[in-house]
Amino acid sequence: MLFGDRKAIMLPLHHKRIAIAAASICLILIFSGCSGKASGPKFDGENAFKRLKQQCDFGPRPLGTNAHEKTGDFLAATLKQYADQVFEHRTRHNSKSTNRAYTVRNIFGVFGKDGKRWVLLLAHWDTRPMADEEIDHAKAAKPILGANDGASGVAVLLEMARLFSEKRPNVGVIIAFVDGEDFGATPDEMFIGSKAFAQYWKDVMKPVSGFKKFDYGILLDMVGDKDLEIHREMFSAQKAPEIVDKVWKVADELGYKQYFKQGKADMKYMIQDDHLPLLAAGIKCIDIIDFDYAYWHTLDDTVDKCSPESLRIVGDVVTRVVYSEPAFADSAAE
Ligand SMILES: [Zn+2]
Repeated sequence: MLFGDRKAIMLPLHHKRIAIAAASICLILIFSGCSGKASGPKFDGENAFKRLKQQCDFGPRPLGTNAHEKTGDFLAATLKQYADQVFEHRTRHNSKSTNRAYTVRNIFGVFGKDGKRWVLLLAHWDTRPMADEEIDHAKAAKPILGANDGASGVAVLLEMARLFSEKRPNVGVIIAFVDGEDFGATPDEMFIGSKAFAQYWKDVMKPVSGFKKFDYGILLDMVGDKDLEIHREMFSAQKAPEIVDKVWKVADELGYKQYFKQGKADMKYMIQDDHLPLLAAGIKCIDIIDFDYAYWHTLDDTVDKCSPESLRIVGDVVTRVVYSEPAFADSAAE
């Protein structure tokens, strides 16, 4: 079992929440050199917030709905304004729970070509078809709007796409909007798009000129909460500690200590999310997520719970990380 050594202290599996005694964690953290002071164009939180609202204007966006289809088209069209190349990887999902087949769309934007290094930035764009954290049964059967859980990560990446179109980073960047993260009630019907991507990523990336492998990946999920508080996620810290350190060091440099909790003893959650299939496929991918969000999987996950400022803080950090990357790997840092 992948995380068998933790089994004894894991509570029953719950999507995105495995509460665990943080104090018992002892990690060997490898410090990577966070190279350079290079900063790119400025991340605009208001622009990102506009992107969040645009997605929510389509309504709830679960698999198999018109709103889902329209949102996918909107994301592909918007990426095309900025990226060198945009393409989709579509798969079918035959659901055991609904007896229906669904089209699952992973949408990719490529920035740069023939790069020696490639960074993957991803977020899920679908929203949950049921509000299963609602106590009231009638409410629990309804789909959520997913302003934070869905739209926020995509919003940050769309604003970053605009920045990359103004100034290309030294490294190649692939933005991936993955689908079907939040579809099912159980993990076998979740992370559908990222599982398909993880399984076929070498084939999926074939259209990208000069692509060989991802140096690392950063997943953004639930990063729009007005009350932003991001802890190091434990799977990420176990499997890709140098990437977690790289991101948290930049957050510290930018003065965002209060939002990106710095203490390693502050780790609170092991979160099942889209980074796990990628990690299992050998791509070092971390999850940046603020799981302290009272409206998670409820009908109250709405635009008013999010803020431009939170999107800007996360956007600033990830933007700085990407623009700081040298075109060639610094051997000391690898
Ligand atoms: Zn969710």
